[in-house]
Amino acid sequence: MQNWKKILKNSITDSATLAKYLKIDKKEINKVISKYPLRINSYYLSLIKRKKDPIWKQCVPSIQEVRLGLGKRDPLLEEKYSPIEGLIHRYKDRVLLYVSNMCAGYCRFCTRKRQVGTEEKVLKAKDVQKAFRYIASNKKIRDVIISGGDPFVLGDKEIEYYLKNLRKIKHVEIIRVDSRIPATLPQRITPELCKMLKKYSPLYFNTHFNHFQELTKESRRACDMLADSGIIMGNQSVLLAGINDDPKALKKLFEGLLTMRVRPYYMYIPDAVKGTYHFRVSIAKALKIMRELIGHTSGLAIPHLIIDLKHGGGKTPLLPKYIMKRKGRRYVFKNFENKLFYYADVK
Ligand SMILES: *Cc1c(COP(=O)(O)O)cnc(C)c1O
Ligand code: SF4
Repeated sequence: MQNWKKILKNSITDSATLAKYLKIDKKEINKVISKYPLRINSYYLSLIKRKKDPIWKQCVPSIQEVRLGLGKRDPLLEEKYSPIEGLIHRYKDRVLLYVSNMCAGYCRFCTRKRQVGTEEKVLKAKDVQKAFRYIASNKKIRDVIISGGDPFVLGDKEIEYYLKNLRKIKHVEIIRVDSRIPATLPQRITPELCKMLKKYSPLYFNTHFNHFQELTKESRRACDMLADSGIIMGNQSVLLAGINDDPKALKKLFEGLLTMRVRPYYMYIPDAVKGTYHFRVSIAKALKIMRELIGHTSGLAIPHLIIDLKHGGGKTPLLPKYIMKRKGRRYVFKNFENKLFYYADVK
């Protein structure tokens, strides 16, 4: 068995085993995991340095998941925008394929908390065929995202099956894969996997690091191997209360990612998902954080701050306010150092 499969197989999924490694309240944890499953693999567990540190909070269940009743199962109405099983078509020119509801670990803040890990399953062969036919018959689709769950818990052959069939569709220009595995199980990125992925260039890979404690020797090696295979790496983070809602921590994360050839792409305001309310950060606070980042580090290190509007409103960018006043052609700007500058626009 490959090393990553062993690590995954030996994941902690019950409170008694978890209690051997961490000081936890088993009763509370059991209450949570009867509803939202637990999985922490040994690699990710090894990143925990202290009780309730940013790694702990991302993977160890908290009673708040079941105590606060706020939020919706599916606030973005992904199910409404799913014309067939496993395919979400919210934007005209791109679709998202939900190929597996398994992950290398279950993040407590997951936006697809209603689906991940509950009953472990992958997309059925007949639904996969239906999805390919849907994409092939819809010429407007030029970008396909292979997502989940985490598609990289699948074997190399299964992943290749998606890539090969999507590449056969002429109008599909861009294929993207979304996977948190470089952060949660970097051992999954093997030379064989990279060799296979390389054949399907141009391939965009959006991974998901939330904290600089996730930037390790192993994750750096994984990202290096992917980048060396010609894959264009991006990162999507979620802004999480008590984990990374701090400009200094984010700066360290984003600057670190750049040195790993991973470009910060999006940072999300947490969605209003049931069981994740204790992670939510206000828009005002998020904008304040962006103000402390923009101009204070390389533009390359700054992701777009995104709110995914409820009821399927879609991804929408948020920017701090830089125009303080406008009178006709005369503008007053507040720059990144909070100094005022006048600007006369062209007619
Ligand atoms: C996020 C997402 C996309 C991709 O959006 P981009 O802004 O192009 O990165 C596509 N489909 C769905 C359903 C999504 O949630
Ligand atoms: S890896 Fe992604 S899909 Fe899986 S639990 Fe974490 S956030 Fe959710």
